[in-house]
Amino acid sequence: MENSILAIVVPCYNEEEVLPQTNQQLRALLDGMMRERLVGEGSYILYVNDGSRDRTWEIIASYAEADAHVRGLKLAGNVGHQNALMAGLDTARLDADVTVSIDADLQDDINAIPEMVKKFNEGCDIVYGVRRKRTTDTFFKRTTAQMFYKFMTSMGVKSVYNHADFRLMSRRAVDALCQYEERNLFLRGLVPLLGYKTDKVYYDRLERQAGESKYPLSKMLSFAIDGVTSFSVKPLRLIFILGMCFLLISLGILAYVIVALCQGRGVQGWASLMLSIWFVGGCVLICLSIIAAYIGRIYTEDKHRPRYNIEKYLK
Ligand code: UDP
Ligand code: MG
Repeated sequence: MENSILAIVVPCYNEEEVLPQTNQQLRALLDGMMRERLVGEGSYILYVNDGSRDRTWEIIASYAEADAHVRGLKLAGNVGHQNALMAGLDTARLDADVTVSIDADLQDDINAIPEMVKKFNEGCDIVYGVRRKRTTDTFFKRTTAQMFYKFMTSMGVKSVYNHADFRLMSRRAVDALCQYEERNLFLRGLVPLLGYKTDKVYYDRLERQAGESKYPLSKMLSFAIDGVTSFSVKPLRLIFILGMCFLLISLGILAYVIVALCQGRGVQGWASLMLSIWFVGGCVLICLSIIAAYIGRIYTEDKHRPRYNIEKYLK
């Protein structure tokens, strides 16, 4: 297993500010690992440009031209982090034995990569990078991210706590991942489904080196909804529980009406009746919206659209 070809896959969206640092640090790391014969000579960094609107692609292209260990993949438009990552993995598996995916902002400690590769050499197919603590994140990012993980778990989605998309995958793990044909990608939920031998490497989350987060709250929310509706039918079960509660409430109202009738003050129930109508109506609408979310997914999955289109592949 020694001297495997490693591909470090980096999705980039408007990352012109951080790319020079990222490339310098990743290259130095890769050189070190090749020197120590931890990975093979043909190892490389693969930058995936996810339809950036700034100079990201020009920078990537200049690195790829000057350096045999850097490659660039330009997607024809912005397809989002998960799809861009998938494009990179799908391309890298053609000639790399093992891949490591990492964000362009270097918030994940690149020094964990050699440790991951060691675990791969010991026979692991998937190695998760797990954050020990996130004190360097802003309070807002930290709390929203933690709510995100809690929400996912409560909705029945199995994922590795405090693990983002910093992970090592062997070629056969990536091959297996590519068999999952779904369009609404949530890799953190999919990868644990692959099986294979896994392990974890712990690291401290660093600050974003430069530039701004490309994941505002709105994107995180839609990411969470994607994750839940991709992996869990729990929301459907919640409708059932809600329905049962309503049945109980209506029984209570029935009892009240009967008692009121017997006591000869039948008309007085008018207010409670009106209230119930509005209350039930609102809940029916909420339930319908949950069903609609699933129907929406059937709709998109059924289309079997390609996840991305590649414009250029520089070697
Ligand atoms: N990214 C991408 N496409 C997008 C949004 C983000 O490829 O539409 C990349 C981005 O360049 C970075 C990674 O996904 O490499 C994670 O984004 P970011 O660091 O902004 O997210 P955060 O760490 O704030 O959650
Ligand atoms: Mg980041």
